Amino acid sequence: MNLESRYYYEEGLIIDRRKIGDGDLVLLFYGKEKGKYWVKAPGALKIKNRLRGKVEVITLGKGYFVKRKELDLLINWEVIERFDNIKRDVDTFIHATTYIKRAEKFLPEGVKDNEVFDLLYIFLKEIKKNNATTSGDILLIKLWQKLGLLPFIPTNCVKCGRKFSSDEKLLLNIEDYKVYCVDCNNLDIEIDLEVINKYNEILTYDFNYMIGSNMITRFEEIKKLMPILTKRIEQEV
Ligand SMILES: [Zn+2]
Repeated sequence: MNLESRYYYEEGLIIDRRKIGDGDLVLLFYGKEKGKYWVKAPGALKIKNRLRGKVEVITLGKGYFVKRKELDLLINWEVIERFDNIKRDVDTFIHATTYIKRAEKFLPEGVKDNEVFDLLYIFLKEIKKNNATTSGDILLIKLWQKLGLLPFIPTNCVKCGRKFSSDEKLLLNIEDYKVYCVDCNNLDIEIDLEVINKYNEILTYDFNYMIGSNMITRFEEIKKLMPILTKRIEQEV
């Protein structure tokens, strides 16, 4: 291997980190060119190390790496964005890191994906104290949709074909994402048409458009569907 191919630059997000050994860190990185992968930041916790204090979780930056058989090594890290909107408030930070951890579990290692990078970046850029959980819920739905795990849910009864009125309760069969009226079935999951409409809107709209505007509060009710969706998705993957 020649010298040139051993080193590379990569811009990306540090999304998680763990302490190992004596003052080293292992970082979970989402790079623009290489997707998700773990790297080692040798000595990052040691007093005189050049990485010390720079390789924080939830930063966008540009790294200089050296290839290794096991984990690549991070040699230098230049911070581009610190996401102060997240770091100035403890609750927002906890929400942001929790949702990022939930999201990254669905991402394969070493696969470049610009759409996923954008979803993560926009989420971190736009999450705010007053809409942290709704932002996180929408992030997960858009990611699952992107991975082909979520279909639209029809808004008429699958059995009798009747279109529902706005204040009606529907019965949802989450196994096949179909809904029934109360006359046609007696399933466990009762849900408002309004929530199904919001879900379909989230699948329709661009993430950036939803999260970057005041309209995000319109989607708060989606939290009623999240435990059901989460359980269903975890069954599948
Ligand atoms: Zn029916």
